[in-house]
Amino acid sequence: MTTRNESLFARAQQRIPAGVNSPVRAFRAVGGTPPFLERAAGAYLWDADGKRYIDYVGSWGPMVAGHTHPKVVEAVQAAAARALSFGAPTASEIELAEAICRLVPSVEMVRLVSSGTEATMTAIRLARGFSGRDAIVKFEGCYHGHADSLLVKAGSGALTFGNPSSAGVPAATAAHTVVLEYNDTAAARQLFAARGAEIAGVIVEPVAGNMNLVMPAPGFLETLREECTRHGAVLIFDEVMTGFRVASGGAQQRFGIRPDLTTLGKVIGGGMPVGAFGGRREIMQHIAPLGPVYQAGTLSGNPVAVAAGLATLALIEAPGFQQDIEATAKALVSGLAAEAKQAGVAFSAQSIGSMFGLYFRPEPPTSFAAVMQCDRERFNRFFHEMLARGVYLAPSAYEAGFVSAAHGAAEIDATLAAARAAFAAIA
Ligand SMILES: *Cc1c(COP(=O)(O)O)cnc(C)c1O
Repeated sequence: MTTRNESLFARAQQRIPAGVNSPVRAFRAVGGTPPFLERAAGAYLWDADGKRYIDYVGSWGPMVAGHTHPKVVEAVQAAAARALSFGAPTASEIELAEAICRLVPSVEMVRLVSSGTEATMTAIRLARGFSGRDAIVKFEGCYHGHADSLLVKAGSGALTFGNPSSAGVPAATAAHTVVLEYNDTAAARQLFAARGAEIAGVIVEPVAGNMNLVMPAPGFLETLREECTRHGAVLIFDEVMTGFRVASGGAQQRFGIRPDLTTLGKVIGGGMPVGAFGGRREIMQHIAPLGPVYQAGTLSGNPVAVAAGLATLALIEAPGFQQDIEATAKALVSGLAAEAKQAGVAFSAQSIGSMFGLYFRPEPPTSFAAVMQCDRERFNRFFHEMLARGVYLAPSAYEAGFVSAAHGAAEIDATLAAARAAFAAIA
């Protein structure tokens, strides 16, 4: 019998490439039919067949307060009733800018956009416009949205210029992007020694969350800060994922490092399309119309999206919010590791703030190469065993997971019970 999910998936594929509007949603990595989702509340999702799931994707990060939080829904409804869009300044944008600057002190001025991609794309343009240089340094396995100059993966050597990892990116664009190994402090030092004067900026996920979860090695972020300062390059922390997740002030607060620019997204929209880039006033003043670096957006600072973001940040600022959610993530990963051990499955897990990583290898990876050594086939089987038991994990071994404030002891217990059966099934 065809389920409703299956018939929707078949119909979607007639008119939408692979049936989805963002590639990982198509379940190509894990196989099978993606659930078509209909509604959500707190830690739970319901699909088109009425099946309920405990959600560990959280819309890929934004839903830190849990789905359809009454305060967020109320703020959105009130804003929508006033206006959907003006394309003109509103007081609520100032409030969101002020909240961001209060939470993330390296941000002295901020501009709102509509996605993380727009934020990183503009931060790169700004770093180039400010420094008068072209080369950008990124790290293999870090994802910074789908702008051309950032869709470049590693070349073979630390000092080699990268090749496009997407068709359609001109080689001339990719040629200005240098790719290094994440956590390779020595390679970063060497690159700056060799061509420091050419480097406009370095963009990095301060905790890598787009190759599963990889922690920064001690000294890695510090070295980037030092080298950028010494050579006049702009250090960009891409905190689209880590912002308000790894700590209320982002990874930069947790690790005590002050980047020149920060990009934000996901949580600042609370589930609506909001991104932001901000940082040192001196750099931000190069943005149009104050300066020569152009950036604009018809829906930037959209009042409904901003209302969702403001309501979400207000929840995050409540005392104990980060501690509670961090404890939830810790309980989840230690419980999963214990269940895997019991079943004799080579597995490890770790968390930071409300982000977590699950690895089908004995130790958490510290590099892109180590991530690639995870047993993907095992992950895929685990994923489907969990999905069948009503636990919705990201459908790829290369994604971080997320808990929300709505995940409590009941959800963790139910997840661990499902994991016990899932690990037994794949052992
Ligand atoms: C999700 C993400 C982006 C892109 O954000 P979109 O809103 O999907 O465009 C950029 N950087 C990082 C670190 C991300 O996790």
